[in-house]
Amino acid sequence: MSLNPIKPILVVGASVGGSTAANTLVNAGVPVILLERDLSFVKPCGGALPPVAFDEFDIPKALISRKVRKAMIHSPTERTAEIDVVGLKPGRDEFVAMTTREELDSYLRDRAVENGAELIEGKLVDLARHANGVTATYTPKGSQELVSLEVEAVIGADGAYSTTARLLGLPRLPYCMAIQERIQLPEDKMARWEATADLYLGQQVSPDLYAWAFPKADHVAVGCGAGVGKTQQMRQLLCNLKDRLAQELAGGEVFMREAHALPMHPRDHIAFERVMLVGDAAGLVVGTSGEGIYWAMKSADLAAKTLIETLPDTSEAALRQYERQWWKSYRTMYRFLQWLQKWGYGNEKQMEVFTDMCRNKDVQRLTFESYMYKQMTPVSWPAQMRMTADIVAAQARHYIKV
Ligand SMILES: Cc1cc2nc3c(=O)[nH]c(=O)nc-3n(C[C@H](O)[C@H](O)[C@H](O)COP(=O)(O)OP(=O)(O)OC[C@H]3O[C@@H](n4cnc5c(N)ncnc54)[C@H](O)[C@@H]3O)c2cc1C
Repeated sequence: MSLNPIKPILVVGASVGGSTAANTLVNAGVPVILLERDLSFVKPCGGALPPVAFDEFDIPKALISRKVRKAMIHSPTERTAEIDVVGLKPGRDEFVAMTTREELDSYLRDRAVENGAELIEGKLVDLARHANGVTATYTPKGSQELVSLEVEAVIGADGAYSTTARLLGLPRLPYCMAIQERIQLPEDKMARWEATADLYLGQQVSPDLYAWAFPKADHVAVGCGAGVGKTQQMRQLLCNLKDRLAQELAGGEVFMREAHALPMHPRDHIAFERVMLVGDAAGLVVGTSGEGIYWAMKSADLAAKTLIETLPDTSEAALRQYERQWWKSYRTMYRFLQWLQKWGYGNEKQMEVFTDMCRNKDVQRLTFESYMYKQMTPVSWPAQMRMTADIVAAQARHYIKV
């Protein structure tokens, strides 16, 4: 590539995805404008992240608010499956990292700026693609003034309600609304959450996903999600969850309430003439776990690397390399996790089966290895047979009345 494009690349949204794309680009000498609607915005999020993200994206471990070493799955009837994260790979310190988004996002954004990205606080309102580039129009925060930028290409990292996608004429993705409260607990109550994250299943608490209680250094984040047509029930679902957790949360004080959309389906196309979409704007949250931070950073990094390779060519044909490579690497995983979400959370009986399935050690190893290391580990025949037998037995237990 020519490392001196005449115009900068515009990255829309300076959250985990946008700041990662900006950083990759500036480190390769490509000029970047990073446009963020509101620098004080804190993304509503559980903040759970696999440790591999810290190594891959060179994030300081000091940003880990708490290390979770055990996950508890609670079925609708309060049967539990306990999953130890520790010991999956001998000799490795294994945990799920809990972060707070105010800290993580600020770090990633500041790093991109220190490395050379120009940060503007303003909201993208228009995009016009033409033969020589893209004219992007934004309104600075707190103003109605329209300001234009001439850029070479655009990376849309502007989340589930992506303005970039809308300006391309793309439809809004099906989404689930997720709501979360952050609760400060008395010290003696925090001990319960020392190193355990809890996931709750049930139509009464989270009909389309799971509900969660994730521990942070000084508080617990409690939340749940509801899909299309059920968002009106969200507050009630959260009340139900807090009722279920009444004992554990007794004496706690809510200091933050937050809600946001979570895309439920990836877009068919994520690369276009002079524009690429990454993270939630592209719908790249994975099913079953609702994990999106790692995938936003990963897709942003890949989109940026594609641009570095193809510049000054920003045609659709060139940028489609990003899309092709993404789906070649991850299509099977997305499809499998979408299927698992429908299968496992489809109804309450199925949620009971899902909980039983999570007790199976082979399933635990497979799930956690793929979450922790982002690799689909091959499964031996005996393990496959043990998993199948356990699942069939669980189906029979919950569906066949004796
Ligand atoms: C309640 C909840 C809990 C979650 N928990 C987890 C979890 O525990 N682990 C996990 O991995 N994932 C979780 N997710 C998903 C995760 O939050 C997202 O997948 C991730 O933040 C996506 O990153 P992103 O950079 O693509 O977009 P976002 O983080 O959504 O950032 C988009 C950015 O674009 C900016 N923006 C939007 N429009 C414009 C515009 N017109 N102009 C300029 N800027 C704009 C926004 O202000 C924002 O800063 C959760 C999501 C929710 C809602």
